[in-house]
This record gives sequence, C-alpha cells and structure tokens, in this order.
Amino acid sequence: MNKNVELKTVYIEHESSYIEVCPYCREKSLEIREVVHRQPYLGRTLIVSKNCKKCGFKKTEMVPLNPRKRRIVAFKMGGREDLHVKILRTSTATVLLPELGAVIDPGIDAPYFITNVEGLLSRIEDALERIRVLKISQEGEGEIVKIKRLIREIKEGRRGLTIIIDDPTGLSDIFAPPGKVIREYVEGR
Ligand SMILES: [Zn+2]
Repeated sequence: MNKNVELKTVYIEHESSYIEVCPYCREKSLEIREVVHRQPYLGRTLIVSKNCKKCGFKKTEMVPLNPRKRRIVAFKMGGREDLHVKILRTSTATVLLPELGAVIDPGIDAPYFITNVEGLLSRIEDALERIRVLKISQEGEGEIVKIKRLIREIKEGRRGLTIIIDDPTGLSDIFAPPGKVIREYVEGR
C-alpha cells in the first residue's frame, strides 16, 4: 500500500465545524465537520463528517465539487502483474466483477478508497469470510468456497478478471496501462 501514498496527498482549502441536533438521539451533540479538500484525481471535494458524541451515530459523505458525467470504467486483467493496478473508487460507485458474480454496491463507510486489484480481491475475501461466519446456509457455503477458489486462481494468475466501475460522479478510475482499460461517459445517473 505504500506505493499509493502519492495518490493520497491532500490539500485542505477550507475547514469548519459546528454542533447540530442529532437525527437519532435528538440531543444537541452532533458534531459536523466540513472540509474542502483538493485531491489528486478527485479534484475539489467537500467531505462532511457527522459524529454524535452521545449515541455514536457516524456518517461521512463526500461531495465532489467538480463532478464529471457518469462514467463506466472497464478493465480486463491479464497476468499477475495486473494485481498491482491501482483503483480509485468513490462511495457513489458500483463495482461489478462478472467472473465472480460479485457486485460491490455504493457504500457510505468511506467517501472513497484507493486500493489495487489484489486489495479489492482481499476485501471480497474478507466479506465472504464474514458471511461464512454467519453460516447462512449449506448451499451458500458451497458458493463461498467456489468464489474463494476463483479468487485464489486469479491471484495466482491462472484466471482472468474483469472489473467494471459505474460511477455517477465520473471520478472513479482504474489506473491500468492503455489498451487494458476502457473509459466511457454515459448519459443519465
Ligand atoms: Zn445522537
């Protein structure tokens, strides 16, 4: 992950914080922090973090101040060397992995994250492990074992992988060499 450090250089343009009434516990204990960042690739973004000191309610949102059109980025992984290809994914993006039958829905935990293909696969493995621990069903167990095997084969370079990111803000990207990635702007949200 150290190689990603240069992508994380962030300049703070503006910062403010104030206390509001919490929508959950109704106490005036919700700390709202607004920061305008200037970030590589994302441009100017407003990060709004809400944190209630009373009930623990927490939420972080990212509002791109220079959004682009909705964009779909598709990447076809070749060999093992592509495991290190970097991925920038905003919280508004949906990630599709057709070979694994997996879809990562837009999330609210982190406004955006930068990882690489290997890191993305590890996140899915972790999620599968959490599902397995919950022991949903016998049939689900078989499916989890199958996807884990596919991920292992991809990590060993024995199987290909397609990654498709659909982002309404058009900011998510896959930093693959030319020829391996397609970027297409589409109409609508
Ligand atoms: Zn609260």
